Amino acid sequence: MSNKLIIFSAPSGSGKTTVVKHLLKTIDKLAFSVSVTTRQKRPNEVDGKDYYFYTENDFLKAIKNEQFLEYEEVYKGLFYGTLKSEVERLWSQGKTVIFDVDVIGGLNIKKFYGEQALAVFLRPPSVEILMDRLRKRETEVEHHLIERIEKAKSELKYEQQFDKVIVNDVLNDTFETAENLVANFIKSHKLT
Ligand code: ADP
Ligand code: 5GP
Repeated sequence: MSNKLIIFSAPSGSGKTTVVKHLLKTIDKLAFSVSVTTRQKRPNEVDGKDYYFYTENDFLKAIKNEQFLEYEEVYKGLFYGTLKSEVERLWSQGKTVIFDVDVIGGLNIKKFYGEQALAVFLRPPSVEILMDRLRKRETEVEHHLIERIEKAKSELKYEQQFDKVIVNDVLNDTFETAENLVANFIKSHKLT
């Protein structure tokens, strides 16, 4: 059977990281596609586990060497990208690859892999709740927070282009819905 991918995309603060981490804990077959980023490491993050933290120079080199499946300047001066080698590495271990990427990155991966990929859009119940979650997470200084909120509002317009939408209101309900969706996709034999 073909190798599969699962994409979780959403505006920053919607809960992607929370949901993807839960799925990784509960579904053995999944493995996380570790992205490359040029942003600063947060105190709780581990290089090689949460992200590969690159300098801008190394990131530009990787672009030049065509190492990315997709990449973007997600925020001004901050680059994020998915390495082709990461997907191959996880598939070679028999895993289904799961991505936590922004909305445009998610749609690009979906376009590339078509039916092999399940693209899920995680929607916050409202923009106000999203803002509240982002502020409470306390990972961003105020001007970055404003940039994230502005980007989030524009990203909400893309949900119809995804295969499935989950509204992340009560977290345990979201976990259950996400687990069922992913388990069914892994089981499905629709792929050629
Ligand atoms: P993202 O990865 O999409 O930026 P996170 O997973 O970091 O989002 O979630 C943003 C914040 O909201 C985190 O502090 C997280 O604990 C919290 N959060 C996520 N889902 C919920 C939910 N359903 N209810 C309340 N808080 C949530
Ligand atoms: P954060 O800085 O909060 O970890 O991530 C910021 C945004 O970048 C999130 O929406 C996250 O999903 C997205 N992101 C992470 N990795 C990638 C990637 O490889 N490609 C793209 N396009 N976006 C990514």
